Amino acid sequence: DNPIARKPSWIRVKAPTHPVYHETRALMREKKLATVCEEASCPNIGECWSQRHATMMIMGEICTRACSFCNVSTGLPSALDPEEPQRVAEAVAQLGLRHVVITSVDRDDVPDGGAAHFAAVIAAVRQTAPETTIEILTPDFLRKPGSVEVVTRAKPDVFNHNFETVPRLYPTIRPGARYYQSIRLLDQVKQINPSIFTKSGLMVGLGESKSEISQVMDDLRIADVDFITIGQYLQPTAKHAAVEKFWTPEEFEELAAMARAKGFLQVAATPLTRSSYHADADFEGLRAA
Ligand code: SF4
Ligand code: SF4
Repeated sequence: DNPIARKPSWIRVKAPTHPVYHETRALMREKKLATVCEEASCPNIGECWSQRHATMMIMGEICTRACSFCNVSTGLPSALDPEEPQRVAEAVAQLGLRHVVITSVDRDDVPDGGAAHFAAVIAAVRQTAPETTIEILTPDFLRKPGSVEVVTRAKPDVFNHNFETVPRLYPTIRPGARYYQSIRLLDQVKQINPSIFTKSGLMVGLGESKSEISQVMDDLRIADVDFITIGQYLQPTAKHAAVEKFWTPEEFEELAAMARAKGFLQVAATPLTRSSYHADADFEGLRAA
């Protein structure tokens, strides 16, 4: 039973053939940078990399968590690389990005969860590519007191942290995470600096109901979260959580309408939406507005 063969017609992935795709790939290799685009087997890689939109994944390729939807390897990662912030900054400058998304694995093994490293990456990008707006997509910093402050005070333009799924499914889908911690993180960012945009994302197709999604949206709005992304979960390999349902494009439109009605400043909800998908264009639109 091949999960790929069962994908509905609206999950279309274009093969990466564009020459710029290969340039982006070569630059990531040259700078020894991992990307979530590759590590998460993102279906949009052909499109994004052809426009130089690579989402860099810092702090290594091995994660201390084992979320059952995620293709990133789990284990004990190696020490943080103090030269990585500068390599990220150089890559951002060379790609000529107006807006960059930077994410990471979870580093429960490091005392501050990697907060100071994130702050160093933000500072290096500001210095090397001052025109580029910075969006970070961080871990939850569970049991790392003070870490959210450290990252927030480095002043990213957008602070993104994904809920991923509804609270009922946390024990099976995100066993190392706590729903409340994710709300608290987003709330804290706004309390510390209300001028930073906050953002969160959900995957659907893991067995959640529409009313559970509605509840998560309400929780996000209570924490003053500005942007929301919703996309279809795709099973990376047979070992990962199974897809319970493919939400149709029409159902995604309903979820988008629900989110807009709840007052999110920006809503992206389509089957292939990922938290970094079209993040540049969306942020550009907001600046122009
Ligand atoms: Fe990479 Fe995000 Fe594009 Fe996927 S949607 S290829 S993770 S930038
Ligand atoms: Fe993947 Fe993030 Fe979970 Fe690590 S914490 S397994 S990178 S989703």
